[in-house]
This record gives sequence, structure tokens and C-alpha cells, in this order.
Amino acid sequence: MSINVESTTSPSAAVRPEQPLITCVIPGYNESANLAILLPQVVAALSKLSPRFSVLVVDDGSSDDTVATVTACAKQYPVQLLSLSRNFGKEYAIAAGLDHAAGDVVFLMDADLQHPVALLSEFFALWRNGYDMVYGIMSNRSHESSLKRFLTRRFYGLLSRAASIDIPLDAGDFRLFDRCVVDALTSLPERTRYMKGLYAWVGFKAVGVPFVPAERMQGHSSFNLRRLSGLALTGITSFSELPLRVVGLSGAVISLLAIGYGVVEFIRAFFFGVDVPGWATLVVGMAFLGGIQLFSLGVVGEYIGRIFNEVKSRPRYIVARRYGFDSKEHNGP
Ligand code: UDP
Ligand code: MG
Repeated sequence: MSINVESTTSPSAAVRPEQPLITCVIPGYNESANLAILLPQVVAALSKLSPRFSVLVVDDGSSDDTVATVTACAKQYPVQLLSLSRNFGKEYAIAAGLDHAAGDVVFLMDADLQHPVALLSEFFALWRNGYDMVYGIMSNRSHESSLKRFLTRRFYGLLSRAASIDIPLDAGDFRLFDRCVVDALTSLPERTRYMKGLYAWVGFKAVGVPFVPAERMQGHSSFNLRRLSGLALTGITSFSELPLRVVGLSGAVISLLAIGYGVVEFIRAFFFGVDVPGWATLVVGMAFLGGIQLFSLGVVGEYIGRIFNEVKSRPRYIVARRYGFDSKEHNGP
């Protein structure tokens, strides 16, 4: 399999522990049937990499029997479960998983079997070679609708131009992190989280591995157009002030045009005695300006809403129950 190296320099030979502790974080929302199939596969794959490992399932407020399935697996395998008090959304389930992952190496993968378990060993080999972050790149997105593919491409194009970070296209949440990356990610205090942006923002030696996502085993994707556009808005407003600049600039341009037009009309009326005809121009102008003003308020409001969220400083998620953790372990966000 060919490898798409994001960093241009080759990684320096990092000292890696011989038998690292591995944690595989799996966020799941109503994935009971999928987890029953996935967990034994992941356990088998991890046991080949190191004798010290655990699988950490984050139950993101599922309404199915995810808790029963995972606790049943925990009797047989080294499986831990964090059960959030409600559905907080994937970004927060990931944050919860990373906060509680003890591994020297932390894998992150979806629960729906779209991320091939067979690739874990390849990710791990790249970590051994010195990469601190390894991510899967979807080389085929035919499982997604053409509208979703089109909008995703436009969004990444916009984001990479608007933000000063380089977010690799088609890379998702199928990843391996070295401890240093997990520590960096968990140290970020922001509440409004756009993980794909944060992975890129923290930096470190990273490499992409192409993979073909499988069909979702059971159930359906939770990311409809409404949820995806919310995430896209979070991505843009978390990583760029460009919308504010565009609004400011368009205000300035419209004001200059209005002044220019005023001067022209004044000269025409004063020197040539031409009446200013028609109310239609006026109405259109007013409606246009009214629209621009409301739009601008909306854009500014979007940022103020995010500041409001940050200032409230609520925890990002609430853990209702945990299984398979020492009482000494990390206790919250
Ligand atoms: N997920 C989650 N919380 C949510 C929605 C999704 O933890 O509110 C999990 C879901 O169970 C799965 C992963 O995030 O393990 C990816 O979700 P999904 O398959 O719905 O997204 P897609 O593959 O379509 O991007
Ligand atoms: Mg999926």
C-alpha cells in the first residue's frame, strides 16, 4: 500500500518502548450490534502488537444495549467502557476517550466497521518508525452521496484557504497517536471542538495511509446534512476570522460605492439639473443594505455564540458510568 507523507522531512529515530501500553478508543452511538463483532477483532489485532493493551469504548448516550454488549465483552477481554450521560456528539465522545486513554500509543476508530482493523498493524509499524500521528486517508468515498462528497470538497477547499493550518483532504478520525500527541490534544482548553482541525493544529510528525472504507456494517450514519453543516460552521469559526474580515470588507466596499454614487447624483443634479428618478433604485438599495447588515450581524453573532459557550466553561461531557478503570485513574474532563 502506498503512503502519502504529509511531513516533508523524515522522522528522527524516536525511542519507542518495546512493549508499549496500547489503548484503542472507539466512540459509539447505538452501535451495539457492530461492537459485538468489532471488539473481538480489535482485541485479536492489538494482542499481536503488544501484550499490554485495552479497548476503550465511549458510549455516547446510546439508547440501545451498547452498555450490556460492552460489559459482556469486558468479562472476556481487556475492554473498558465510559458511558456518557447523554448524546454529546462524536467530537465530545472522542475528547472523553482521549482524556481517559492511558496508552503510550492510542488508536482511534469508528465502531461501525468502516475502518479496517487490518490497518492497525500498519499504523503501529509507522509509529515504530518514528511517526507520532498516523491517519487513514479515504481513497474511495463512493459509500457517501455525491452531494456529500461535493460539499465536503468545497468545505475543505474553503477551510484550507481560510485557516492557516493544512488539514489533509479525505483524512478522518481513523488514527494512531503517540502519547505526546494525546497530551497535546487533551491540553487544549477549548470547548467547541473541531477535531480534524485540532489534529492538524497540534502538528507533530504525521503520515497518511490510504484505505478504502468498508460499508457500514449495521445501522446508518448519524451525520445528516444538518449535523454536517453545523460541524462545518464550527470548523470555519474555530480556525478562521476570514468571515469577519469579509463582512468588514464588504461593508467598506459598499460604503465607498454609496459615497461615489452620491457624488455622481449630486453633480448630475447640481450641474445638469437632472432629477433623481424612481423609487425602485431606492427600495432595491435599501433591501440590499438591510440584507447585508442582517447577514453581517449573523456572522458576528456566530462568533459571539462561540465565545459565550467558551465563557460558560461547562464540562465538554459528563461521564455517567465507567467500567474497567482503576479508581485511581483520571476522573473527568
Ligand atoms: N458517533 C458518536 N456520537 C454521535 C454520532 C456518531 O459517537 O453522536 C460515532 C458512531 O457510533 C461511529 C462514529 O462516530 O462509531 C462515526 O459515525 P457515523 O458512522 O455515523 O459517521 P460517518 O461514518 O457517516 O462519518
Ligand atoms: Mg460510519
